[in-house]
Amino acid sequence: MTAEIIDGKAFAAGLRERVGAAVPAFHKASGRAPGLAVVLVGEDPASQVYVRSKGKATLAAGMQSFEHKLPASVSQDDLIAVVEALNADDMVDGILVQLPLPPQIDEKAVIATIDPMKDVDGFHVVNAGKLAVGEEALVPCTPLGCLMLLKDKLGSLSGLNAVVIGRSNIVGKPMAQLLLQESCTVTVAHSRTKDLPDVVRRADIVVAAVGRPEMVKGDWIKPGATVIDVGINRVPAAEDGKTRLVGDVDYASAAEAASAITPVPGGVGPMTIAVLLRNTLVAAHRRVGLAPPAGL
Ligand code: NDP
Repeated sequence: MTAEIIDGKAFAAGLRERVGAAVPAFHKASGRAPGLAVVLVGEDPASQVYVRSKGKATLAAGMQSFEHKLPASVSQDDLIAVVEALNADDMVDGILVQLPLPPQIDEKAVIATIDPMKDVDGFHVVNAGKLAVGEEALVPCTPLGCLMLLKDKLGSLSGLNAVVIGRSNIVGKPMAQLLLQESCTVTVAHSRTKDLPDVVRRADIVVAAVGRPEMVKGDWIKPGATVIDVGINRVPAAEDGKTRLVGDVDYASAAEAASAITPVPGGVGPMTIAVLLRNTLVAAHRRVGLAPPAGL
């Protein structure tokens, strides 16, 4: 079997379009466009690229983008004061503090300061708790994007065996909660899991969020399974000494066994920003007491 490619880039473009198409009605009802504030601390080149592309995508969707750049030496109190000011700003519906933060800053304390109604990254414990108990929450963008791709491909996920490899707060754990809500039978694997290949072989759905290049091999994949590769790893390219991007799944061998698979790049990656815009639109509606548009 050669797997069908799950085109996250195309799905993300469609989602961004749907979000953009819903902005004028929000504007009409509330008198303003939804607003997303992104806080960048320091000069990390990868973070700068992410923040720039988030700002561009926000404007392209017709929303307002607010960027706050702070020096790497900023104190925790000063960063928290910026977040508090954004909490109080009515033009701001979503607040995203780009991670990682410099070592003098306690990430948890900063995230805890974000108003949960504006927590478009879904990292605040209030949103994590609401997701766990099945209440309306803002859900972390990457796992929600993975779920959208899975539902688009498979329809109902009810009763399927799902294995999530990775238990981070930003990907693995919320992914497992989302799959459980869809009535999957969920196994969460991690670095202490015994006989990981055997655990993965039982899965109808495999979500790999490990951060280890091409770790999941094709002979771990149950024939016909659907594979979602969250990994983004830069590795040296054999030919020219440059680097290339690979996922956590050995794409070539896994594509022989799976029925559908996300490529890297062009799979999960583009979904993250698209879902961020979606979450901002949803947060904006909830903050002014409007129902978010259906179908997002
Ligand atoms: P973390 O490093 O926070 O978590 C990695 C998880 O993988 C941990 O739970 C760890 O287990 C587990 N793990 C590590 N080694 C093994 C192993 N040998 N066998 C089984 N499990 C293992 O990473 P993130 O969740 O933040 O990210 C995971 C990947 O997803 C990365 O490649 C990252 O770049 C990518 N990513 C992509 C995004 C996107 O937009 N597409 C967004 C976010 C992340 P333990 O808990 O026991 O240590």
